Amino acid sequence: MTDRRAQLAANLAEVEDRIASACASAGRGRDEVTLIVVTKTYPASDVRILRELGVRHVAENRDQDAAPKAAACEDLSLTWHFVGQLQTNKVRSVVGYADVVQSVDRVKLVTALSAAAVRRGRDLGCLLQVALDAESGERGGRGGVAPDAIGELAAAVEDAPGLRLDGLMTVAPLAGPYAGRQRAAFDRLMELSSRLRGDHPAANMVSAGMSGDLEDAVAAGATHVRVGTAVLGDRPRLG
Ligand SMILES: *Cc1c(COP(=O)(O)O)cnc(C)c1O
Repeated sequence: MTDRRAQLAANLAEVEDRIASACASAGRGRDEVTLIVVTKTYPASDVRILRELGVRHVAENRDQDAAPKAAACEDLSLTWHFVGQLQTNKVRSVVGYADVVQSVDRVKLVTALSAAAVRRGRDLGCLLQVALDAESGERGGRGGVAPDAIGELAAAVEDAPGLRLDGLMTVAPLAGPYAGRQRAAFDRLMELSSRLRGDHPAANMVSAGMSGDLEDAVAAGATHVRVGTAVLGDRPRLG
């Protein structure tokens, strides 16, 4: 086994233990939570090793890095999630490889994603990214729709050809009333998810929790956790 493979295997085993313990503590089945490994800044060779180690879901946040990486891994059966802020001029490229876009946060983006998905004959999964620190009518600093605008955005996705409304995503906010209160933030996301499911029962994905707070997310009820550094190591600083 190469050093890198051994390191990734050990890290993955540790993360798997953390998820399993969090599920056990919450009285949830391990199969209720899906691990998505965030491979941003790391090479396609790591993605390949992760697939061999059993990973099925990967995520990326920048199209410039993700597009060539996904192309290099086309032979692997992986589900690709796009989790970064998305400009409409990148949409055509992203729809070429992403199975799920987790960062849908405005109607203009829905329109662009729908057109690109239809052109490619694809069925694209969409999660609405919720900014728990955004005021009514605003978007969050890191993207995301304000909680009171979820209903309108969900309706837009539901009505858009080529798109499937899968659920909600959040990143624990660094500012506002939920700063430093991950569990409260994820509980709030679950409340918003229940409300959404009232109108859209199939939109039952809840993507929350990263390397530092995946236990809080699992305890709150997340169905998907997005883990980068705990599996791949500390990222080089982006230039
Ligand atoms: C980078 C990233 C993650 C993973 O964060 P880690 O702290 O490295 O686990 C999760 N979600 C999003 C949206 C990200 O950009």
